[in-house]
Amino acid sequence: MGLVLAVANQKGGVGKTTTAVNLSAALALVGRRTLLVDLDSQASATSGVGCAVGQRPTVYEVLIGSATAAEALCDTCIAGLDVLPANADLAAAEIELASLDGRESRLSAAVSAIHEGYEFLVIDCPPSLGMLTLNALSAADAVVVPLQCEFYALEGLSALLGTVERIRGAYNPALALAGILLTMFDPRTSLSHQVAAEVRQHFPADVFATVVHRNVRLSESPSHGLPVLLYDGASHGAQAYKRLAEELIARTIARALKARTDHGGVHEKAGLG
Ligand code: ADP
Ligand code: MG
Repeated sequence: MGLVLAVANQKGGVGKTTTAVNLSAALALVGRRTLLVDLDSQASATSGVGCAVGQRPTVYEVLIGSATAAEALCDTCIAGLDVLPANADLAAAEIELASLDGRESRLSAAVSAIHEGYEFLVIDCPPSLGMLTLNALSAADAVVVPLQCEFYALEGLSALLGTVERIRGAYNPALALAGILLTMFDPRTSLSHQVAAEVRQHFPADVFATVVHRNVRLSESPSHGLPVLLYDGASHGAQAYKRLAEELIARTIARALKARTDHGGVHEKAGLG
């Protein structure tokens, strides 16, 4: 069973899609079979890994129930990385899901059939706390929260953590916070340092050691349909997402080992292979 990571923050432009694309690419490149799930109707994650949807079904049909996840899977520019693609149709799902059975758990049900083939599933969430993000959080083992090192970085974080808490109570008791990822850090500005220090002070145990700096390669690579590791592997952005993948794998192993000590058994989860 793959470990499901939802990359979520209801603020737009904080680095969710950049993180989902480049983290999943980095995981695949170190040999962990990964599925990127695009849950944003902007479909930037889909195009960011070089998938052209054309006439094939997308995650929209999968959520509505007119196609299976296996039918919608698409290859990417990286061996070992597949994508469950999106297109603009997904915008309608936010409303259409509301009247369907099991409306919050449709993604989880749909991917359960293809779970076995992957060590990691990485979900790129839209910039809202609507039905699509609820589906992602219901399906997820853990949430990765990108935070932009700017003014108001922490604004909205309590709403997100409150939603995580509600999902735990209602649908997914095991949902964990994988970590907060500081993005678009600019070492030359004191604001970046202040924001980073403030976030670490509020969430001492939950901030990834890896910090993603502002890096122009990260903003250029999507227009080439390539994750940054293929576009410019030596760039700071590429190296940062590689370290994030390593950090996540290490945390996953640590958590599984802790679960073994706590419960006397190991969950069959990613990172143990
Ligand atoms: P979200 O998915 O949260 O809306 P994106 O990942 O699309 O955010 O990022 C918003 C914009 O910022 C995009 O144009 C992206 O290319 C750019 N971007 C993201 N992370 C970085 C970074 N570390 N350095 C430079 N540009 C970045
Ligand atoms: Mg996005």
